[in-house]
Amino acid sequence: MTAPHEPTKPLDRDALRARLGFYRELGISEFYRRPVDPVLWADPAAVAAQDGPPSESEMRPLSHAPVTAPSLFQQPAEESAQESEIAARKLFQPILPPPPAPLPPEQHFAALKLIREEIGDCTRCPLCQGRNKIVFGDGDPNARLMFVGEGPGADEDASGLPFVGRGGQLLNNMIQAMGLKREHVYIANVVKCRPPANRTPDPDEAHTCVPFLFRQIDVVRPKLLVALGQTAVTYLTGEKKPLSAWRGTVHPLRGTKLIVTYHPAFLLRDPNQKRHAWADLQMAMRELGLELPKRE
Ligand code: URA
Repeated sequence: MTAPHEPTKPLDRDALRARLGFYRELGISEFYRRPVDPVLWADPAAVAAQDGPPSESEMRPLSHAPVTAPSLFQQPAEESAQESEIAARKLFQPILPPPPAPLPPEQHFAALKLIREEIGDCTRCPLCQGRNKIVFGDGDPNARLMFVGEGPGADEDASGLPFVGRGGQLLNNMIQAMGLKREHVYIANVVKCRPPANRTPDPDEAHTCVPFLFRQIDVVRPKLLVALGQTAVTYLTGEKKPLSAWRGTVHPLRGTKLIVTYHPAFLLRDPNQKRHAWADLQMAMRELGLELPKRE
């Protein structure tokens, strides 16, 4: 778990290149530089910095009113394949107590640590047999935004941290495109142990593990949850519906709100869907009161 927010610093050249690459993949290729604040010219260090890479705020993408066209919220074929894999198995809504009273922010870190201790060296489901590390969750215990994925892959199983592989790099870029840093958000999964060969977790596995996720949500109390893909939304809500039925709307969930978008692994397989994911992320930004990229 990382410390609460640091002020956002200008991006260095590599981070800027990564972000521009991500915007390009989203189909955004025109950028503007913000007019230079005259006060900057009075500051020799700031003047010198003008010769370096442009700052984060200078590199907002040019296009975009938020994208809300209905076609952006329809479901591509491959996602529905994953969906039917879950549908074939029995689903039930886990019986969960209602969310407890919110904890004071300064107690969130310790409360998450207690949940991790309670999980211990878990053998509650068969996924324990193939795992190396339990992937509990990571990020700011007081985050306003929480992402929920499906379950660890090979890189996460090796490191014990969620979303550190290729999908994690894409998720980092998505977070950066929202004007946030990974340390500002909290990230966890439906299951905390890697399913063999990265298969979708079985309902029994998911239902064994998901109460811990709900307890993490109850501690962090994010203003907004973003479910990444079908497995996340299915087990967060206990309801089996196509992703297209969830996307494009803000749903109430456990005293907070839920937005649904594609899983990064799906976006890596079908990069054309990134612009749809960007529409979802812009909806999340509006919910969080974050400034949307706009034409000046
Ligand atoms: N995919 C997930 O759903 N979660 C991770 O942590 C990594 C990959």
